[in-house]
Amino acid sequence: MRAAVMPAPGAPIEVRDLPVPALEPGAVLLETIASEVCGTDVHLWRGRLAGVPYPIIPGHVAVGRIAAIGSADRAPASGSSATAPADLEGRRFEVGEVVTFVDVHGTCGACWYCLVARQSTRCPKRRVYGITMGVADGPSGGWAEAILLRPGTQLLRLPPGLDPETFVGGGCGAVTAFHAVRRGGVRLGDSVVVLGAGPVGLSAAAFAALSGADPVIVVGAPADRLAMAGRMGAALCIDLDRLPHAARRDAVLGCTGGRGADVVIEAAGVPAAVAEGTTLCRDGGVLVVAGHYTDGGEMALNPHAQLNRPHLEVRGCWGSDASHFEGAIRTMARHQGRVPWGEMVTRWFPIEESGAALQAVAARTLLKAGIRPTTGSAPGA
Ligand SMILES: [Zn+2]
Ligand SMILES: [Zn+2]
Repeated sequence: MRAAVMPAPGAPIEVRDLPVPALEPGAVLLETIASEVCGTDVHLWRGRLAGVPYPIIPGHVAVGRIAAIGSADRAPASGSSATAPADLEGRRFEVGEVVTFVDVHGTCGACWYCLVARQSTRCPKRRVYGITMGVADGPSGGWAEAILLRPGTQLLRLPPGLDPETFVGGGCGAVTAFHAVRRGGVRLGDSVVVLGAGPVGLSAAAFAALSGADPVIVVGAPADRLAMAGRMGAALCIDLDRLPHAARRDAVLGCTGGRGADVVIEAAGVPAAVAEGTTLCRDGGVLVVAGHYTDGGEMALNPHAQLNRPHLEVRGCWGSDASHFEGAIRTMARHQGRVPWGEMVTRWFPIEESGAALQAVAARTLLKAGIRPTTGSAPGA
């Protein structure tokens, strides 16, 4: 089976032939239908994440068809088996089903963070397909013809009508955004500002609007991403390239009764955006920081003026769990007719062009790059 491998930070992406792995009971071999280039893959390529076991196969979010399920009698099962993984209702998966999977694997359910703090995304045992699982773990990322899903990996069916390309259009950004909107506690009628018009910011705008937020305001650039933000559900789009900070703040105050937004979601990944977020939030409001998956540096902050006196609540938002995948998938399936997730992928790349896809995302020359390992052709092309 072929896989696009990131050998080391900065090294060119290589297409390698890997052996098809043997399956232990409960493991699943997924024939990849679609994956994506996430912003995190750019961080991985730049060597900006710790604990990455290069060489790796990127593509932590993907959709595939179950090709085989490891069974207890060692022969791959042709249908459902007693060792097959089950969905959240306990129904076992079968060969041939189209599924995605929670990219986080191995959350232990037994440590202090899992059991006492109930913050499973901070479990030290958790590992992530395509990020902290590498080639040594078998084919463990979506930029490959197949993905080995270890026993215990949570699989999720795509609901009827939600095609793989539409789901991957939202992809990791949609799951992250779903978490961020939940983390912000967005309620009916809240005013929401989203900072950043990348895949996370665009899906955050969509989910906030679907939550009943009004208005939803996106601050970002360039113009084509802001146009997309409008189609995703933003009522007002503020161009970061054209308006200075004071004017951006005036624009937000102008449509929030002069107070600022109830909830601000930072999805820009730029430290200054967090500081700006404090100035766009109303007193007593909530600021969610979701854009800093890697260390982007520091920012200046006046604790009196920006935190203490405005009685601001700042919430970090790290990773995702099964609830965010389940919620994002269900919401996307229901609302895909009015929210154009499927159009967020600017271009689909075959596996051989994974390196070009990565460079295009790094250079921000396209909004999103999809990877189609098995056919290499654009959907419908
Ligand atoms: Zn744990
Ligand atoms: Zn991601």
